[in-house]
Amino acid sequence: MLACMYDVTIRKQALALVAQGRSLNSVSKQTGISRWALRTWQGRLLPLRPGAAQCCRCANPPVPPADGPGYAYLLGLYLGDGCVSRLARTYSLRIACADAWPGLIDECARAVKTVRPGNNVFRVQRQGCVAVTAYNPHWPCLFPQHGPGRKHERCIELEPWQQQIVEAHPWSLVRGLIHSDGCRITNWTTRTTAGKRKRYEYPRYFFTNKSDGIRKIYTDTLDRLGVEWTVLTRRGDPLNISVARRASVALMDAHVGPKY
Ligand SMILES: [Zn+2]
Repeated sequence: MLACMYDVTIRKQALALVAQGRSLNSVSKQTGISRWALRTWQGRLLPLRPGAAQCCRCANPPVPPADGPGYAYLLGLYLGDGCVSRLARTYSLRIACADAWPGLIDECARAVKTVRPGNNVFRVQRQGCVAVTAYNPHWPCLFPQHGPGRKHERCIELEPWQQQIVEAHPWSLVRGLIHSDGCRITNWTTRTTAGKRKRYEYPRYFFTNKSDGIRKIYTDTLDRLGVEWTVLTRRGDPLNISVARRASVALMDAHVGPKY
């Protein structure tokens, strides 16, 4: 069968198998679809719409992504729980989203669409999480932090154009970082005042990431927003950033809030 004769549902099902980490060869054997067709669909699922192939960073001169808040949010998700991988003819962006927060899975898929409006977005179910996945040859242009090895084993810094977006939309970045590698928890205690036992709650935000560079991006942004933070070490490593001061938690509640 010619590649163009498969309908979109079949194309998506075949690409979902590839997104699970299977080789093009094995998916081709199972489905009878040629490897050439699979590779073509990875780069472009549907016929090109005008402008779909262009990339703001490949333009001459390069410009920042049009949707600043959408980009800053997706950057936060990518830095927290995302990865860009090279495939034969394109790149995949995968963001791991826990099953426990279906609203965040939807928000993640929307963010990918705002940054690459023409792109298909797939949801690949894994153990306990959904990998929101999109194929596009320009992911490394948009996320130049892409590189071999794990993020905490390389130096992660923002490029000047990304820094400008983050400075213009700092809360979007913080939301993305908390939604991927953070949480809002409530500690509580009881106290007896005037013979009455009363329950007191202490909400706080945690952000946990192994990369020194990513924690610095987070804390630099909190500093600019006037949010106070402290470092909690775990077995000697400064992995956790805590926001616990009442005024700072109130700021975070107004702009980030609990996961949903
Ligand atoms: Zn590009």
